[in-house]
Amino acid sequence: MSLVVQKYGGTSVGSVERIQAVAQRASATAQKGNSLVVVVSAMGKTTDGLVKLAREISTNPCRREMDMLLSTGEQVSIALLSMALKELGQPAISLTGAQVGIVTEAQHSHARILHIQTERIVRHLNEGKVVVVAGFQGISSTEELEITTLGRGGSDTSAVALAASLGADRCEIYTDVPGILTTDPRLVPDAQLMEEITSDEMLELASLGAKVLHPRAVEIARNYGMPLVVLSSWTDEPGTLVVSPMSQPRSLRDLEIARSVTTVEFDPDQAKVALLRVPDCPGVAARLFGEIALQELDVDLIIQSIHEGNTNDIAFTVNSAILKRAEAVAEAIAPALRSQTGTDSQEAEVMVDRNVAKISIAGAGMIGRPGIAAKMFTALASAGINIGMISTSEVKVSCVIDAQDCDSAIAILCQTFEISSSPIQIPVSSAEVLVLKDKESSRKTSTSLNVGIPTAKELPSVRGVALDLNQVRLAIRNVPDHPGMAAQLFGLLAKENISVDMIIQSQRCRVIDGNPTRDIAFTVSQADAQAAQMTLQQAASILGYGTILLDQEIAKVSIVGAGMVGQPGVATRMFAALAAEQINIQMIATSEIKISCVVNKEQGVSALKAIHSAFGLAGSQKIEVRA
Ligand code: ADP
Ligand code: ASP
Ligand code: MG
Repeated sequence: MSLVVQKYGGTSVGSVERIQAVAQRASATAQKGNSLVVVVSAMGKTTDGLVKLAREISTNPCRREMDMLLSTGEQVSIALLSMALKELGQPAISLTGAQVGIVTEAQHSHARILHIQTERIVRHLNEGKVVVVAGFQGISSTEELEITTLGRGGSDTSAVALAASLGADRCEIYTDVPGILTTDPRLVPDAQLMEEITSDEMLELASLGAKVLHPRAVEIARNYGMPLVVLSSWTDEPGTLVVSPMSQPRSLRDLEIARSVTTVEFDPDQAKVALLRVPDCPGVAARLFGEIALQELDVDLIIQSIHEGNTNDIAFTVNSAILKRAEAVAEAIAPALRSQTGTDSQEAEVMVDRNVAKISIAGAGMIGRPGIAAKMFTALASAGINIGMISTSEVKVSCVIDAQDCDSAIAILCQTFEISSSPIQIPVSSAEVLVLKDKESSRKTSTSLNVGIPTAKELPSVRGVALDLNQVRLAIRNVPDHPGMAAQLFGLLAKENISVDMIIQSQRCRVIDGNPTRDIAFTVSQADAQAAQMTLQQAASILGYGTILLDQEIAKVSIVGAGMVGQPGVATRMFAALAAEQINIQMIATSEIKISCVVNKEQGVSALKAIHSAFGLAGSQKIEVRA
């Protein structure tokens, strides 16, 4: 007998017939002798409908009342499902978040779960009842009973948090597709089902736009080692397993807000190559990194940012040992790029920085917490360290700094984030990274999950592709280039709870009134666009930077795969796929296991399709989406 948590999404409970089908599945699970908790979303598009209603009354409704409103959707489905179970002769009881005691932070509309009282659920389970819990909602305190919601898509997070708190054997997420696919089947019908994916990869995919799982649900599964399966509520197919490394014992208090940063990592031995003023047209990145891949040179970070006029900067880092060869490739290519720009005043130029180090903070707890990156920048600024490049992913922030600052950066970051374990020197050989990952996975295999985990060699370089059409780009012109600027800028946004992604500083310097300045571009979600622009505009004269430009017409397309570490040709293949479709890349940002490109919004779906097919991810069968 197992303790199982099942979660059913909106489409899965979208009609009376669907609720009855869910009741059948749930009661069959209980009849097999399992203890069962079922978490449900609101029926169909109910939540969207409620949002629309509110907007008809107020353009800016207060968040408390929005939570009061949106939480009603789930209350309908728990009651109906509980009735349907009883009709089948299966004892059941429905409970709201408040009745369970799902205690969250007092942050309306995006609360994080602090802890879950399990006594009442356990009591009802012991009475032989299926317990049906409303997803997406909690309360900020057991005295005030203020209703909070977890953020759109948050029922997945309710389910995994309940599973972790109850010590369940597994958490099953039932949805309208057969499992986790190589990309969104609504956009690319020949997307392929994965049998499994690591939680690291899924975290990236989910936060880069694959809405099949709420990223915070993956984070909890990863932190608590909770076996998580995503599958269709229409069939009996096995779906996709999200594999997590074996977890350390962990408190169930402060469930979602415990340690944000778990490790400080560094690589003291990098070099940076930047190509300035390359033409802003399709094919440039493909050409540069194509040559680099031909030489089998392994590139670490890649960034590209936008600029006034019609040129870009592309910068990348390599291990110092291969700098000479990487530099030679860049030098060889620059003249060809120069002739494309056509004007002498805009010549491409290679700039090399021989002695740089990469320093990173990592931890799943930083997801959606904008203050963490700002805290890192502030810590580095307090030690007088200037940041040359920034690269962010949901679970890691990396900064490229002068190599001579590496030791003091490690010290200040370990102190700031209270890291007592030794900082990790990034293995020079990427093979070692793979071996480490592989060890983690195989430990898990032997303990609880009896599934085949791919060996290091088999880890696919690209596991999935995601498209995010809900981002906008902001660019700040002429930001004074001195320590502390990134800290101040992103600190301001963090205070407004605005999460920032793809932060890219321009490589070229513009001197204004004798002071060097750079442009900084980054992306935020559409919902935060106006607030971010306003916040930055208000501080412009005090902090001494120029205008803030907002571009709403962007799409972010990303590839994710743990096996891309140490595989030279992966980035090139992505860039070449875009070039072949004549799609211009506006921004590039990479982390160890992902590469993201910003392109024009109109070209987002074609970009996704081109990349998906370039990596051979298409399957032979068309995936059915129930809607
Ligand atoms: P639910 O209501 O069950 O929570 P969601 O709409 O939140 O369902 O998530 C399921 C949807 O996620 C699918 O219908 C699909 O369109 C979309 N999706 C995006 N990326 C992926 C992916 N990589 N794999 C599967 N589905 C995806
Ligand atoms: N009903 C909520 C939403 O639509 C939560 C969820 O479905 O996960 O966002
Ligand atoms: Mg969902």
